Amino acid sequence: MLKPPSFDLTGRVALVTGGTRGIGGGIAEALAASGAHVVVTARNAAAVEAQARRLREAGAKASGIAFDVNDAAATMACFEAIAREHGRLDILVNNAGMTIRKPLLEQSDADWQAVIDTDLTSCFRMSREAARMMVRQRHGRIIMISSVNATIARPTLAPYTAAKHGLHGLMRSLAVELAPEGITVNAIAPGYFPTEANAGIRADPKFHEAVCRRTPAGRWGDLSELGAAAVFLASPGAAYCTGSVVTVDGGLLATF
Ligand code: NDP
Repeated sequence: MLKPPSFDLTGRVALVTGGTRGIGGGIAEALAASGAHVVVTARNAAAVEAQARRLREAGAKASGIAFDVNDAAATMACFEAIAREHGRLDILVNNAGMTIRKPLLEQSDADWQAVIDTDLTSCFRMSREAARMMVRQRHGRIIMISSVNATIARPTLAPYTAAKHGLHGLMRSLAVELAPEGITVNAIAPGYFPTEANAGIRADPKFHEAVCRRTPAGRWGDLSELGAAAVFLASPGAAYCTGSVVTVDGGLLATF
């Protein structure tokens, strides 16, 4: 009897930063639907509780912890709470992120620091603390949500582009260091997906159409189209996949 590869995450504990909405919301749902207990995190406590409740009401296992990924003490407290409640952490999705769109000459040092802190430094801290638990288990999956901006650039996004390029470097560095411990570290690089973060630019019909024209698939992505990549990277079947970028961009990076 042939057996299909397993994408079953039953018994696994997953933490998704920024899991309340947008890309993280879709990934939290996909991991929960595949059997993982998902710990949803974000700053807005009401949104965290609402998302965890929504997943539980759909028959999945979920809970929530509200904190800012830039708060080191709160980050430590989050991992302590997961250790107390679950005794393990199998999957970390570093998804929480932001950008500040401004021409270079208007980007302040504070703008630069805010984006680097949220989109890169927090991922280093979260991954280090997750790895502390995962090394003991000799099992773990760390997934960075990067961007096509980790490979190419557009104007007004210097700090974001630098942070996302750095995230691929962090991902590869952790992948080679943690592979002997049974921990894989990979990235998902989304193209354009409609979320709160880009509601402003999406409202501009010129920008919306430019994305459609620039993307070979001819459209923005649907949030449901990222979950499969996250489930694959978190799954038992992806044990030998580390240091890789899974690009989900409708062909954007493949074309000129
Ligand atoms: P959204 O703004 O829609 O969602 C961001 C999520 O992260 C929210 O849950 C938000 O909740 C949380 N968050 C933001 N800042 C913090 C913080 N400091 N601490 C804790 N949680 C935080 O963004 P997207 O879904 O669009 O983006 C998610 C990720 O995907 C980002 O890393 C982004 O760079 C990446 N990405 C997005 C693309 C897109 O087209 N949308 C394309 C490529 C990459 P709260 O505000 O309550 O904290």
